[in-house]
Amino acid sequence: MQSTMMTRPLLLDDILEHAARQYPDTEIVSNMPDKSRHRYTYRDFYKRARQLSQALVNAGLKREERVATLMWNHYAHLEAYFGIPGAGGVLHTLNLRLAPDDIAWIANHASDRFLIVDGVLLPLLEKFADKVNFERIFVVSLTDQAIPDGMESYENFISEPADDFVYPDKDENDGCGMCYTSGTTGNPKGVLYSHRSTCLHSLVSALPDGMALSARDCVLPVVPMFHANAWGLPYSATLCGLKQVFPGPHMDAPSLLQLFEEEKVNLAGGVPTIWMAIIEALEAEPQRWKLPKMRMLVGGSAVPESMIRRFDKFDLSIIQAWGMTETSPLASMARLKPAFDDADEDARYKQRATAGFAAPFVDVRIQDDDGNILPWNGEDVGEIQCSGPWITAKYFDLDKSEDKFTDDGWLRTGDIAAIDRHGYIRITDRTKDVIKSGGEWISSVQLENEIMAHDKVAEAAVIARPHPKWGERPLACVVKKSGADLTADEVMDFLRGRMEKWMLPEAVTFIDEVPRTSTGKFNKLGLRQQFDDWDWD
Ligand code: ADP
Repeated sequence: MQSTMMTRPLLLDDILEHAARQYPDTEIVSNMPDKSRHRYTYRDFYKRARQLSQALVNAGLKREERVATLMWNHYAHLEAYFGIPGAGGVLHTLNLRLAPDDIAWIANHASDRFLIVDGVLLPLLEKFADKVNFERIFVVSLTDQAIPDGMESYENFISEPADDFVYPDKDENDGCGMCYTSGTTGNPKGVLYSHRSTCLHSLVSALPDGMALSARDCVLPVVPMFHANAWGLPYSATLCGLKQVFPGPHMDAPSLLQLFEEEKVNLAGGVPTIWMAIIEALEAEPQRWKLPKMRMLVGGSAVPESMIRRFDKFDLSIIQAWGMTETSPLASMARLKPAFDDADEDARYKQRATAGFAAPFVDVRIQDDDGNILPWNGEDVGEIQCSGPWITAKYFDLDKSEDKFTDDGWLRTGDIAAIDRHGYIRITDRTKDVIKSGGEWISSVQLENEIMAHDKVAEAAVIARPHPKWGERPLACVVKKSGADLTADEVMDFLRGRMEKWMLPEAVTFIDEVPRTSTGKFNKLGLRQQFDDWDWD
């Protein structure tokens, strides 16, 4: 029997309408290239996002056509987050840290029709302009720069009042946003989010045992808006009426700390690399910054337990999250369940250093190489697979993606993990980074965490290198803290007793820095290439 409920679709338009109606005076603050701060309210944001929608409709944008952005995190990007889907289009955020040729490949694969670009990023656009074919290019002049010939001013484009604008009809399953995976293996792959998936993701991520969002909070997404929708923060924050603060192009620790302090930011999100720089700046000058009590959403790669402990000393609480572009991205968060209320401190830290437990509506399971679904006993290790309303079921315009999905339609994440009896996921590796020594897997993530607990270590990445006897053995590539005196023997001594003997690195080598991917993660492929001819002798 049919229910008596209205079948109104879940649309981003309604998030925007709600925010403007209920929180018109809430502020949105953006750090500009010259470090001045652009400030306006949800009332202004609403008006301009709808003007963008109307301008795109007038420009002939058709349902589900893609509009690309090449932008830092700021107010105009937020307008694009709502204005493009409001027009019925798909927001396609281009990753400005990729090689120019890769950006062009992605824009062409997605058939992006229009582009909105930051004026300060025009030199980057120039590097691939001859390889792409945007019909119109709108420039957001964050400085007073002139608009080049053949391009248009974003301000002019959206200048017409849109008080009478009526959103075009849409289905909740229409595409609203698109991101490409970074393509560390093979070509990048596109994921197309829907209005429905994004609304549900926003609602669930705001729950008390998720990010616990309230209109009293102030959020700053350090994670770029081109990286998996800044983990959905702009959407969930708008839904809940939060003050939003954007760092613009300034992602260095002092600029961020200044924003945290002056704008009273109490929630921020970013990859561990960012937080590593922040904690070093805080520890170097503990009296300098007067930060509010903050919670920080950290994910994208494993968060070392030592980092959680270091931040706690400043009353800054790390919440680890796990997910991927394919999962919108939040799939699990490491909040402590009541079962750990009486646990000792070490046990609580151990739990917080996991990837957490799956969000409502997200199913996770682990499967071994023979296809067996493994029990949640904290020991058996297999590939994480997941399924849910904001998990992609395929890739955009790509036939050969079957190997990323199981026969029964679950996403194969390529992450290796154990799940404990409480449901917490402990990631040990990515399939492409595993170390197989004498037939046994050694967790590079666990080794890295242990090494990073040494107080003279800034960071460490562990990679597999071929070994004549064991097949592969772990090579620890360690970055010392600046000015620290540390030898390979000291690192090995530190690890003995903390890990079983056969899991210890075969060798420790010191490097100046760990190479990074376009989203700020350890680039292990690059590191393996760097140590291509490594000789254990
Ligand atoms: P890519 O890293 O390929 O650019 P994503 O940004 O989508 O693409 O990253 C997803 C991957 O990041 C996951 O599959 C996982 O390997 C890693 N990851 C994300 N969060 C965590 C976490 N909390 N712990 C360990 N790994 C994580």
